[in-house]
Amino acid sequence: MIIQRVVLNSRPGKNGVPVAENFRLEQSTIADTVQEGQVRVKTLYLSVDPYMRCRMNEDTGSDYLRPWQLSEVADGGGIGVVEESKHHTLAKGDFVTSFTWPWQTAAILDGDLLQKLVPQLVNGRLSYFLGAAGITGLTALLGIREKGHVAAGANQTMVVSGAAGACGSLAGQIGRLEGCSRVVGIAGTDEKCSILVQEMGFDAAINYKKGDVAKQLRELCPGGVDVYFDNVGGDISDTVISQMNQNSHIILCGQISQYNKDVPYPPPLPPDIEKIQKERNITRERFLVLNYMDKQEASVLQLCQWIQEGKLKVRETVVEGLANIGAAFQSMMNGGNIGKQIVSVSK
Ligand code: NAP
Repeated sequence: MIIQRVVLNSRPGKNGVPVAENFRLEQSTIADTVQEGQVRVKTLYLSVDPYMRCRMNEDTGSDYLRPWQLSEVADGGGIGVVEESKHHTLAKGDFVTSFTWPWQTAAILDGDLLQKLVPQLVNGRLSYFLGAAGITGLTALLGIREKGHVAAGANQTMVVSGAAGACGSLAGQIGRLEGCSRVVGIAGTDEKCSILVQEMGFDAAINYKKGDVAKQLRELCPGGVDVYFDNVGGDISDTVISQMNQNSHIILCGQISQYNKDVPYPPPLPPDIEKIQKERNITRERFLVLNYMDKQEASVLQLCQWIQEGKLKVRETVVEGLANIGAAFQSMMNGGNIGKQIVSVSK
């Protein structure tokens, strides 16, 4: 059977900026027959995520991330529909997902490695299982629960960087649902800031590309910052940490501003900021959602319930066509997405 697939065409280099041309669309084939335990799936949605930048390097810098190989098919979070099955629990028409879905239009996969999806849980919005009801939502929820020390009634102020992105837009809303009294976002355009306040219930948002971030933060968080959901690192985080309170908490979700730099993870803070962190007893522990998968099932149900109740507003930026996945990745790394970046492969 003839299929289309996307392979890694070239590496940007550890300090290079990734571009769409780092990926290549090509024609390939898959077997015509399915073996015992396997299923043939048609790909519906693929997820494009910042961690993939590390997979473009020869050495990802993490023991849990495998590098993509040149001229080999890329992979990541994906959703598809079963078209043929020789697996005991999966049947034709079932919707399934995996963290290691190949970037191709159809594939033959080991059924044991797939999770079956219940579309009703997300009002039929299947792609949400890659975002708000998937790893992104889990990252926001478990990051806050495991590292945020949020307590209802404690009058805490939360600041979120990368706030209009996939994790950030959910983290601010979940921070509020979990009990923060004030939530302030930091994002890269006026449009994003307006969506955060008008649609997602943030109290305020700062466009970090305009004006003085430190001054705006002081005005918008007069009682200081108690919880910081950090997606970006770098200068923005240094500014936020400088305004954090005694015994406050950083949720070290990601450091996207450092991903095109050859630095260790998590990147060390500059000495003056590290001094503040230590003097004020601010926690900054490494957080990796994959370490909390025992809480996946209950947490996904919580996220789906909030989505159904309209308490969690979800935004997606959907790009059509496998051929455009490299461009979608480049765009997301440059702030082109609002909410989760998804590629729709075929209807
Ligand atoms: P995302 O925020 O949807 O997309 C990336 C966004 O980051 C862009 O839209 C852009 O928005 C912003 N950005 C890019 N370069 C920037 C820079 N130099 N400075 C400030 N902002 C920049 O991606 P996501 O999937 O939600 O991931 C957010 C973070 O969470 C990433 O760091 C990711 O690695 C991390 N993550 C961690 C875990 C975990 O287990 N710890 C799991 C999932 C994701 P602007 O317009 O605002 O610049």
